[in-house]
Amino acid sequence: MMCNSSHGTQLYLEVPSSCLPIVYSPVYNITFMGLEKLHPFDSGKWGKVIHFLKEEKMISDGSIVEAREATEEDLLVVHTKRYLNRLKWSLVVATITEIPPLLCLPNFLVQRRVLRPLRTQTGGTIMAGKLAVDRGWAINVGGGFHHCSSDKGGGFCAYADITLAIKFLFERVEGISRATIIDLDAHQGNGHERDFLDDRRVFIMDVYNRYIYPGDGYAKRAIKRKVELDWGTEDDEYLQKVELHSEGALNEVRPDIIVYNAGTDILDGDPLGGLAISPQGIIKRDEIVFRAARRRGIPILMVTSGGYQKKTARIIADSIINLRRQGLIGGNEDGEVAEEAEECVGGVPLVMSSSDSSPSSVSTGPAPNTI
Ligand SMILES: [Zn+2]
Repeated sequence: MMCNSSHGTQLYLEVPSSCLPIVYSPVYNITFMGLEKLHPFDSGKWGKVIHFLKEEKMISDGSIVEAREATEEDLLVVHTKRYLNRLKWSLVVATITEIPPLLCLPNFLVQRRVLRPLRTQTGGTIMAGKLAVDRGWAINVGGGFHHCSSDKGGGFCAYADITLAIKFLFERVEGISRATIIDLDAHQGNGHERDFLDDRRVFIMDVYNRYIYPGDGYAKRAIKRKVELDWGTEDDEYLQKVELHSEGALNEVRPDIIVYNAGTDILDGDPLGGLAISPQGIIKRDEIVFRAARRRGIPILMVTSGGYQKKTARIIADSIINLRRQGLIGGNEDGEVAEEAEECVGGVPLVMSSSDSSPSSVSTGPAPNTI
């Protein structure tokens, strides 16, 4: 089952040590003739996080790693051909992404404007997996499509990026044979749960609102630590449970990599999450998880997953800055941002620029959606 049959991929290239293991691409953002406004969430989340991190001088243009789009071959590591073919129907994509007007669009536009951004975020998660192992931590500013499994999408998740990142590591990186997923998005992560249902190499901890989507009883059998929350759960109870169970999970099984699905739809007022966690609570939560990982010297990969209120991007950026202040994620040497890290994209042309010449996909511009 080892690497002999692995395909060639552009996602595992060497990254100069001057680059921070933060992965992002302007292509992440989905904007299309105002279509993003039809989705009931702040569609500018990913670009805004980057904007705030730059404003706080934590990163500069050249100092982070630019995500590449996952190719069909990359996706086939987990997805079935049948599923990928189904995405060639606009109706299927409209259903998965919950953007009904998409079904009126020709599929080539759906591919370019919706699926390509999602494939690039998926590539970003896979890249961040390798970076996490190399550097001890990595953050994909997007990704976290935890409702998608090998043969089925849903809840805005079209590609199973978490499963892909883990399978890439198992197949390609020596010494990585056990993973723990800590899924703290407000929703149950039924996608990776279905994918790893019978895989003893993967330990899944999931903390979610028990009353909301997807309520996937079959997938729940894959959860080793299941923490079901009630409507309106607040900071004290939440943080206590996160700490208790993160520590418990990592004491129970020591993984080679932690995938942390850091959804922010637990935020008070989120129309889907139904929980009542404060911005400070989210920042504290991320700190608890990183501290548990770093204290044990286990590499951690964070993805941002769901949460699309107007203030979400600010909270994610504040949390990343806090992780830095706490010494839980490092810069180069003494935490200095690389001034001239022009090689962070790996020196290879990026997939994005070819067909995307419109101004709508600029990095800090408004972007899309919901997980
Ligand atoms: Zn969610």
